[in-house]
Amino acid sequence: MNPRAIFFLWLALVAAEQAWLALLALLNLRHVRRHATEIPTAFAGAVDAGTRARSVAYTLERGRFGLFASLVSEGLTVAAVSTGFLGLLDDAFAGLPLGAYLWGAAFVLAVSICSWLANLPFSLYFTFSIEARFSFNRTTPKTFALDTLKGLALSLLIGLPVLLGLFWFMDRAGTLWWVWAFLALTAFELVMNLLYPLAIAHLFNRFTPLEDGRLRDRILELARRLAFRTKGIFVMDASRRSRHGNAYFTGLGPVKRIVLFDTLVSTMSEAEILAVLAHEIGHERRHHVRKSLALSIAFAFAGFWVLSLAVPWAPLYRAFGFAQASSHAILVLLAIAAGSFTFPFKPLASLWSRRYEYEADRFAVDGTGGAQGMVGALVRLSKDNLTNLTPHPLYSFYHYTHPTVAERVAALEAYARTKSASANAEASQANASPTRP
Ligand SMILES: [Zn+2]
Repeated sequence: MNPRAIFFLWLALVAAEQAWLALLALLNLRHVRRHATEIPTAFAGAVDAGTRARSVAYTLERGRFGLFASLVSEGLTVAAVSTGFLGLLDDAFAGLPLGAYLWGAAFVLAVSICSWLANLPFSLYFTFSIEARFSFNRTTPKTFALDTLKGLALSLLIGLPVLLGLFWFMDRAGTLWWVWAFLALTAFELVMNLLYPLAIAHLFNRFTPLEDGRLRDRILELARRLAFRTKGIFVMDASRRSRHGNAYFTGLGPVKRIVLFDTLVSTMSEAEILAVLAHEIGHERRHHVRKSLALSIAFAFAGFWVLSLAVPWAPLYRAFGFAQASSHAILVLLAIAAGSFTFPFKPLASLWSRRYEYEADRFAVDGTGGAQGMVGALVRLSKDNLTNLTPHPLYSFYHYTHPTVAERVAALEAYARTKSASANAEASQANASPTRP
């Protein structure tokens, strides 16, 4: 295949991806407008007309913005490739007396900075205009700037050694370099998973132990009952940045910390918080976290294999505007192009993750003795987050990692009904048995 053919194949894939994403976004926007005054039964009584109108406005605003941002960002990428900008940048660094590894690192850094700069107006507009207008934003310009600087320092501190290590493997580790590099990177990632809650999370948020009281006692009782071993319950000051609420666990291994966003603690009832935690514990107890980690490691292995096949393929470099082959060029090239090859497979990942959500929801029903807590929590989260209550089915099928709240509420209630029906049947069977022969 010659470089021009490769370039046009990539261009066709980019166009197909953008057309597909735009089609879904437009279908979704039209669907939301058409159903703007409806309140689905799952939300009846909980969501009033005013909140519904705000959620429609928020969905439309985010949808249009997302569509525009994605087209501009992909357009800039295509421009950077087709004008030969990447190759020029690479040549500029090649002229400096840096040595191959530092030349590569400087090039990757420059490309990252360009891409960050191109995205900056969008992230500023999203945070300080859209999120602010719907009163979700709590981030001050100072917090935003500090977050950016800390993020940059961290990516230099962590990313630079990783990058140099990768260059070394590609350069020196023989034909099976990609297997060694994969093993080293996986080990590094596992160590980072351990370090994150201990060292890195604190750079961005404050974690205070949940104060003694009824909520804490009930959480500990729930954890004991569900055989979940915890190292402590912490409240995170998420409200510093946003009003969106959540809960999560951190730490690998059998003992974990429970982290509750302060936004969750302040808006939900105890029963709802317990249900959300039971759901999260369900992800742990059903090994979803471990299975997802295993799957992502398998994908990383496949990724390294593809990388090893692409490295010696000379026309690929020229297709993306590079004058010469290099380790850093192939990394940047794959980072740019990989998404256009994998986008048709996204629904498989979403299907997989939605199955886990249903399973964790059923676990929460079993763990809290009913569906009310979980249903209440989901409805409240949708209401407070101005979630789109009526997504287009194709849009949610492709994009959503969680089933829609209406789907989850229906499944939760159906599960609770079959559970109580079978409990009743067992009870009546137990009553009837003495008269049987
Ligand atoms: Zn979940």
